Amino acid sequence: TVRVRFAPSPTGMFHVGGARSALHNWIYAKQQGGVFVLRVEDTDASRNRPEWTEGIISALAWIGIAPGTYEGPYFQSHNAQAHRDAAEKLFAAGLAYYCDCTREDVQARTGNQYSGYDGHCRERGLTAGPGRALRFRTPDTGTTVVRDIIRGEPPFDNDKLEDFVIARADGSAVFLLANVVDDQLMGITHVIRAEEHLPNTPKQQLLWEALGHTPPVWCHVPVVVNEKRQKLSKRRDKVALEQFRDEGYLADAMRNYLMLLGWAPSGDREIVPWSVIEEEFRLEDVNASPAFFDEKKLRAFNGEYIRALSTEDFVAACEPWLTKAAWPGFDAKAFAAVAPLAQTRITLLAEIVSYVDFLFLDAPDVDEAAWAKAMKEGAADLLNATIAAYTTVAWDAETLKSTLEGLGTERGLKLGKAQAPVRVAVTGRSVGLPLFESLEVLGRERTLERLRAAVS
Ligand code: GLU
Repeated sequence: TVRVRFAPSPTGMFHVGGARSALHNWIYAKQQGGVFVLRVEDTDASRNRPEWTEGIISALAWIGIAPGTYEGPYFQSHNAQAHRDAAEKLFAAGLAYYCDCTREDVQARTGNQYSGYDGHCRERGLTAGPGRALRFRTPDTGTTVVRDIIRGEPPFDNDKLEDFVIARADGSAVFLLANVVDDQLMGITHVIRAEEHLPNTPKQQLLWEALGHTPPVWCHVPVVVNEKRQKLSKRRDKVALEQFRDEGYLADAMRNYLMLLGWAPSGDREIVPWSVIEEEFRLEDVNASPAFFDEKKLRAFNGEYIRALSTEDFVAACEPWLTKAAWPGFDAKAFAAVAPLAQTRITLLAEIVSYVDFLFLDAPDVDEAAWAKAMKEGAADLLNATIAAYTTVAWDAETLKSTLEGLGTERGLKLGKAQAPVRVAVTGRSVGLPLFESLEVLGRERTLERLRAAVS
């Protein structure tokens, strides 16, 4: 059976590129009736933190890869002895040798920029000891051809592959070897991972063979870049899946968008149900060239996904933001009344807060610039007339609108202009939900109170 794995290193927040590779593995396993394994590559003790492992596991669950539906998590650190044994085995078989050269030694010998190890210790017959790393002896001639689902069969000239380090002087294995040994232990048949690992592949394939196993099928999915075509980096770009989640991207929008990095469903469609993606996605159809991560487009997707929710689901999706806002005056009924109006307007769930807070605060949270702009000459006169009229009219959106419209006309103001000071006085902002529906929900008393406060 097909066995694939996702093998993140818990050295930071969970990168969107990692999430995309995880989904590729996940779908491939599902399509092949195979097994998805999660392996946490936690060997760099100085950079790993348990909370990052937890973050990866919960972010994976968020996009639909839930614990219990995959094998693992395994932890690379638990296999340290197997990694050492593999290094020993390669040494015993004469396929690896000890080396005590420093970088400076090599450079002094080759007289130019360091461009790989020169093989100095190959025939020195050193044994293990302090300051001695173990190097794998790569073939001097021929080519190593890897089989890659997306990239065909790229050949690598063996004479360009240096004798690379597989274990440090203390006997611990480096990434290249540990990663291969784990894949062998876990019976991995297909390695689907980011393009940045392609240069490691011929080296790792040689290790697979040297350790007596048939190499896996490889698949290097395209690098993800920003609008300047630079590889997404956590120092420069917004890349953490957790951050997108916390801003109010929906998991369905996120995973749909991630799958479009280098691939598209049939028929010029982009927004499609997950079931269609699972059915139509083909790893071999993924484009080899860099994929642009376009947050604007993702956000537009998110808006569409939000609008497609039932009102009930939308209200439920807003929960965490409402809970966090924790307004003492929160009223679930009033929220339910305006939720459909907000649903058609927001593109991020986090925006819900600024759209509805006027309902639940004692006084609106005022945007000073909007206030200054709306409260110009004539505003007080209009507000006073509105107060007088709103004290007695029927309290429904229709009447509130025609009333204000009439007051505006008397003053030579179009409805939009007449609305501006009322909106700012009541909500504190210049943009928001449809005004008259908002007033209807807020109620006569509270509306009048705010209009009066604005002219006092
Ligand atoms: N821990 C490696 C990484 O996060 C995994 C590489 C691989 O998938 O083989 O880049």
